Amino acid sequence: TLLAGVLAVQGNVSEHVRAISRAGEAVDERVEVREIRSSSRLPDCDLLLAPGGESTTISRLIHKEGIAPEIRDHVEAGKPVLATCAGLIVLGRCEDDRVESLGLLDVEVERNAFGRQRDSFETTLDVTGLDEPFPAVFIRAPVIADSRSCEVLASVEGRPVAVRGGPIVGTAFHPELTDDPRIHRLALFDSVAATQ
Ligand code: GLN
Repeated sequence: TLLAGVLAVQGNVSEHVRAISRAGEAVDERVEVREIRSSSRLPDCDLLLAPGGESTTISRLIHKEGIAPEIRDHVEAGKPVLATCAGLIVLGRCEDDRVESLGLLDVEVERNAFGRQRDSFETTLDVTGLDEPFPAVFIRAPVIADSRSCEVLASVEGRPVAVRGGPIVGTAFHPELTDDPRIHRLALFDSVAATQ
């Protein structure tokens, strides 16, 4: 059984809990999901999911609750992480001084940058590692302004929207809002299989 931690200080948590369970079923892996709102809960986890929501609130709370150093340890141990939308902002590098980002994923992220033109949109994406296009929902999505040392897995209009850096996959969109478990599978389970 794999223990999957979902960062649950704020944001769309329940959708990710369901998506992880679906992805586990798809790879025949037993998964237990643990919501993380305080310290000492993440260190046992094999996997981590950092959901979307409000990155200012999420970053403030993970520092206040002492979860931030545990996220760093999780990444340094090479354990898989999926960071979506606000989660991507928090794990990457963001110039906005209302967000204390962790810089664990080597990307420069700008908050709400897609949203200046259109608040939300949906598109089908070709993603490296997936055979068929993925239905991607963007909601006030961040822009990955510089993917730096990360591998770009998908782009929209020439801008990266999914990246991989070490054990972390980051997406500007919300893979938990469709029934399609493939991004969760790719980020969280396929890499576990690859390291075993
Ligand atoms: N705009 C949000 C932020 O900057 C992210 C949007 C989302 O997670 N859906 O925190």
